[in-house]
Amino acid sequence: MDITELTVHELQEKLENKELTITDITKAYVNRIDKKEKDVQAFVTTLKDEALEEAKELESKETDGDFVGIPIGIKDNICTKGIKTTCSSRMLENFVSPYDATVIEKIKKENMINLGKLNMDEFAMGGSTEYSYFKKTRNPWNLNKVPGGSSGGSAAAVASRMVPWALGSDTGGSIRQPSSFCGVVGLKPTYGLISRYGLVAFASSLDQIGPITKDVYDSAMLLNIIAGYDKRDTTSSNVEKKDYTKALKNDVKGLKIGVPKEFFGEGINEEVKESLENAIKVYKELGAEVEEFSLDIAKYSLATYYIIACAEASSNLGRFDGIRYGYRAKEFKDLKDLYRKSRSEGFGPEVKRRIILGTYVLSSGYYDAYYKKAQQVRTLVMNEFNKAFQKYDVLLTPTSPTVAFDIGSKSNNPLEMYLADICTVSVNIAGLPGISIPCGVDKENMPIGMQLIGDKFQEEKILNAAYTFEQKIKFRENHRPDEKEEG
Ligand code: GLN
Repeated sequence: MDITELTVHELQEKLENKELTITDITKAYVNRIDKKEKDVQAFVTTLKDEALEEAKELESKETDGDFVGIPIGIKDNICTKGIKTTCSSRMLENFVSPYDATVIEKIKKENMINLGKLNMDEFAMGGSTEYSYFKKTRNPWNLNKVPGGSSGGSAAAVASRMVPWALGSDTGGSIRQPSSFCGVVGLKPTYGLISRYGLVAFASSLDQIGPITKDVYDSAMLLNIIAGYDKRDTTSSNVEKKDYTKALKNDVKGLKIGVPKEFFGEGINEEVKESLENAIKVYKELGAEVEEFSLDIAKYSLATYYIIACAEASSNLGRFDGIRYGYRAKEFKDLKDLYRKSRSEGFGPEVKRRIILGTYVLSSGYYDAYYKKAQQVRTLVMNEFNKAFQKYDVLLTPTSPTVAFDIGSKSNNPLEMYLADICTVSVNIAGLPGISIPCGVDKENMPIGMQLIGDKFQEEKILNAAYTFEQKIKFRENHRPDEKEEG
């Protein structure tokens, strides 16, 4: 048995039956990192020795909890006390947070073992993980392809079995799109369900932390752990605590699925379209009622997203001034020069692009024309989704218009990179939950992702729809990365 092939719910079972020890599991993952990391480059910081040490310690005492000794990987924009949190930026290259994010407190309470911090696009801005200051993560299915982004390190680490599951963050698709590119399951929860306390802010009205896992059951379990009200995050919602695994019924009879036709139009790759059409057939066979409809407003989502996200980024990133924390230029003439040089040297080109764009749309002469207009369109997008959810339980779309693209093919063309977010951003604009699960592969054995969108706080519906589909097509059993290509 290869321990790293197991899902977390399978690991739990084997721990309980005493077939495996915590050290067996931790060692298996540490060995796997030793084998794969040189090719995949998913980590900014690995905690191999620390993890083995922790495993020993956890074994030496009686500890309660359902996830004691289960390893996890963390996206490097989630604050971890005593361990670097870099956001894959030169600006925070040596930053060590003095506190834990709320989600980290929660996984520590479960006595999970942190295997390390995972690579990402700088400050979560990007869709390929090529904008990391440190390294380019590669797609475990084909090392010449990107893993997606911005949580590319998280998705690649799960797909290459260097961690059994991971946390990512999603502002406009950064959990779902890399999950789709790497053939794993990525959930962006409803805005407000997960505390953002300790998540380094990109665009505060859009950001949300969520699980990246091997299967849907693990996704529901990790959501159980991280969800919940937090008074330290003023946008956190005080909703009833649920057990999301209870929603997994393996039954979609009578489920009403809406398919917005705008997500299947121009720019969507033919093989992606075919795979999604197949998925629709599967749902029909399983007894769901599938209907096409028009979500016309979606065509404005991308423009709206990039205005709002950049505006909020320009404001959030103002705190990196070279004074309080982060990078400081070595030489400067005066205070202004210190600000200018620290920010010029500390931020990469994509981050600067967004700060400039965001500052522009918020400037007094252009505020009404861009920022205010974008906020108005945001309301229209929400209204259209509200209308759709009066009719449908779940909406079904591709996660991304294409499969993973070649490293280097878009990194010099920001607009093309932005266009790749077309299927995911409206979900963040409307604050809705969305999940990406693998639904097939293309001719070159690259995974294709399907996105299921739910109404606010209806995670149970999308999780059950995803689970039922997964049980039927058994993606993990039938498709896997071609290990031959790695070496
Ligand atoms: N690719 C999108 C962007 O660049 C989404 C990023 C994210 O969700 N963090 O903004």
